[in-house]
Order: sequence, then structure tokens, then C-alpha cells
Amino acid sequence: MPNPRLLLPVAITLLLVGSGRLVAQGPAGGWPQHSMERPKPPVERAPAQRLPVPAPAGAIVLFDGHDLSWWEKWDGTPAGWRIADGAMVVVKGSGGIQTRVGFGDVRLHVEWASPKPAVGAGQDRGNSGVFLMGRYEVQVLDSYGNDTYADGQAAALYGQFPPRVNVSRAPGEWQSYDIEFRRPRFDSTGVVLAPARVTVRHNGVLVHDAVALLGPTSNGRRDPYVMHADQLPISLQDHGHPVRFRNIWVQPLAP
Ligand code: MG
Repeated sequence: MPNPRLLLPVAITLLLVGSGRLVAQGPAGGWPQHSMERPKPPVERAPAQRLPVPAPAGAIVLFDGHDLSWWEKWDGTPAGWRIADGAMVVVKGSGGIQTRVGFGDVRLHVEWASPKPAVGAGQDRGNSGVFLMGRYEVQVLDSYGNDTYADGQAAALYGQFPPRVNVSRAPGEWQSYDIEFRRPRFDSTGVVLAPARVTVRHNGVLVHDAVALLGPTSNGRRDPYVMHADQLPISLQDHGHPVRFRNIWVQPLAP
């Protein structure tokens, strides 16, 4: 006969594990950051998706294929990326770009394509990133037949959580991210009242469902939350690879 005083906590634990919440809230499932041993998400073929996805009424179009008027460098000077065939293209060494205005809770749509032909391997192949509030990265990478650590592949919440599945399309093909982001909440002294939460659809497939971030995303370390403003720019990464972006729009969400 098991000790009845143990039954309730055991039942709650099983409930949480069964719902996935305990795993999502633990230290990245217990895996060391960037572990090559961490299981790779299964590769699946994404369903056909009609791209570009038109911006809904009321959405703010951050890039419509014509100009970078919504964007600047991180130091506030003009964005150095080039525009070609209705896309913005990362220019190596020109630096990342960010929106001129800040956003908090948002739904964000981004379309991107890896360079074709593919060059390099692992993290050195089609690397870029979509940073909510300039510090919470949804990884952009060519993960089509390209092995890397699970928490750094395409659609990973970088350095923390791999996507549930790998639905990457081939180099040169347009892909989509639909991100719902809830910013972290802090009290007036900087104590975290609620972590940032991220839901991501990659090529229309749900790969993160309201995952609680452990803190800002970083390479080679896991940083704690540091209190920041309620609205900060969305940024895109220059990782030295000519990744293309197009059709970027955002809808601020009510808290
Ligand atoms: Mg990146």
C-alpha cells in the first residue's frame, strides 16, 4: 500500500508531465545547451502553404518588398541590407537590422529563404534569426538535411528549445514563421512575474506551443531575465549568410 501522503504530489507530477508543462518549464528538458546528444526533432514534410500570406486588415507591414523604411541598424543608422526581387537580403558584415519602433505582445509573420546553393554546414549554413524584443531569438537556419545541435536548428528557440518537428523546406524555397509572442512581465523591482511565452508555426506546422523561455536567448550560455522596457524593436540577424526575407507583418496583441 503506497503512502497516501505521496499520492497527491505524484498524481500532480504525472498530470504535468502528461500535459508537457513540466518539461516545458524545466531547464530545457534537462539537456545541456547545444548538446549534440539531444534528440533531433523528427523530419516531416510541411504541407503545401500558399505564400506569400497576405497581411490581415490592420496589420503593420514591416516589409512589403520595396524598401527598408521600417528598419535601421542596431545603432540607429540606415539598414545595410540590400533589396532584390522583392526580398531583403542579409549583407555580410553590414550588421543586424531592427524595427524603428518597439513592440511588446505580437503576432508576427515572416517569410524567409535559405541561400541556394547551400554553402557551409551546421550553424555556418543559412544562419540568421528573428529576435523578438531584440533578445528572444527564433532561429533561422538551413535545416534541410543539415545536422546541427537540436536547440540551434531552424525554428528553435535558440539555445533553449528545439522545435517539435523539422519541417524545413529546401534551400531557395520560401518558408514561413508565424510567431505569437507574449513578453515577460516584471514587477517594478525587476522580479519576473511571468516569463516570455512563444508559439511558433513553421511552414504552418505548430512547433512551439506557448513555450516559456528561460530568459533571453544566447550562444554558449543561458542568461537570466533582466528587466527591460515593455516595447522593444524586432530585429533580424546578420550571421554572415545571404538569407532572404520578405512579407513581414506584425499585429500588436492586447495584453
Ligand atoms: Mg541565428
